[in-house]
Amino acid sequence: MRFDVLTLFPGIFDSYLKQSLLEDAIQAGIVQVHAWNIRDWTQDKHQRVDDRPFGGGPGMVLMAQPVLDCVAAVRAKAEPPGKVVMLTPAGERFTQRTVEKLAEEPRLLLLCGRYEGFDDRIRQLLNPWEVSVGDFVCNGGEVPAMVLIDTVIRLIPGVLGHEQSAADDSHNEDGRLEYPQYTRPRVFNGLEVPQILLSGNHAAVAKWRKEQSDLRSHNQNKASGGRQSPDTTPDE
Ligand code: SAM
Repeated sequence: MRFDVLTLFPGIFDSYLKQSLLEDAIQAGIVQVHAWNIRDWTQDKHQRVDDRPFGGGPGMVLMAQPVLDCVAAVRAKAEPPGKVVMLTPAGERFTQRTVEKLAEEPRLLLLCGRYEGFDDRIRQLLNPWEVSVGDFVCNGGEVPAMVLIDTVIRLIPGVLGHEQSAADDSHNEDGRLEYPQYTRPRVFNGLEVPQILLSGNHAAVAKWRKEQSDLRSHNQNKASGGRQSPDTTPDE
């Protein structure tokens, strides 16, 4: 799968691309990520890519010309042309279902805004898939783009060491949360690993995990909007 990130700050991705699973997937040729600087396509003699909003108001707006030319040029660099995803707080709320849909695409162009966002004609002309990573505002689309890449690659065959990992993840196809996990040592700060996990009884372990998963999912549903409710916040 190929990701093309269109951004004013491609350098933000340098260290991100060199970490863990993503780097391994890139090395193995399973995933490609290319970051492009939108500014390289400006026709402004001062290299500007933004201007003041018509109608007044604070901040600057990304101009249509450099963004649209960048999209056209990057699309032409490989086949298939790919779907354009615009990262925007006004987009479809990002969930694991969105991740699943995105993972079916062979190529995605991720359009990262900055400042006050995009001239709306970019949206009107490209008709992109508009995605919001949550009901909050980031300074730019780069971190949301990383969230998208990070979540989507988990579903690409060969990226995770153990394919079952993604199937067991929280928010997977059945929407449940994952059960609690433990590793060595058996006792830490007086807290013991549940005995059932040490029993070697696979059926009993599977039953316990399903119960724990049901319990966590039920508790989250009770908490408003899926957020942790105040009465489940651990004591500091
Ligand atoms: N003035 C814009 C508004 O209120 O919708 C916010 C612009 S924000 C400071 C700059 C850029 O960050 C956006 O164009 C978008 O690309 C990105 N961004 C910010 N929050 C986001 C979110 N929740 N999801 C996806 N992208 C986001």
